[in-house]
Amino acid sequence: MANFWRQQGVPHKGWTLVNVIDVREDGQPEWETDYETCMMCGNEKIRYVHILEHPDVNDEFRVGCTCAEKLTNDYINPERRERELRNRSSRRINWTKKQWKRSKNGNYFLNVDEHHLLIYRDKGTNKYKVKIGETFGKKTFSTLEKAKIAVFNGIEYLKEKGDW
Ligand SMILES: [Zn+2]
Repeated sequence: MANFWRQQGVPHKGWTLVNVIDVREDGQPEWETDYETCMMCGNEKIRYVHILEHPDVNDEFRVGCTCAEKLTNDYINPERRERELRNRSSRRINWTKKQWKRSKNGNYFLNVDEHHLLIYRDKGTNKYKVKIGETFGKKTFSTLEKAKIAVFNGIEYLKEKGDW
């Protein structure tokens, strides 16, 4: 098993945190999750993969939180990003449990924080499209569940921008 902490040639400092991803899908059982292995220490079962870059290393490194902290010399952001992902995932799971109302013409709607949310069928393709407040989404979705997740992502995005 790779342990780059003991190998020469891999820098121990000067890495930048590019992204943190959650390899587990919503509602996915643990035994079906495709965990990753930390490329630095070889620790297995990494759910939150921290992606790091270094100016002297060609490939990105995919590591666990502890190694990410050491390599970036940042003991705040790797854990914070991981916590945000965890919180977002539980918000998303709660979101999918919401009961949407059905209008006479078959659209789904919901009012959240005084914003009107709408899921309707695209006339041409019969796929689902979404509308958040006054903004029409451009994408189409094959299932209602995917459309609901798109609305969730849209709201999260607006909240991040401070436009919610
Ligand atoms: Zn590690």
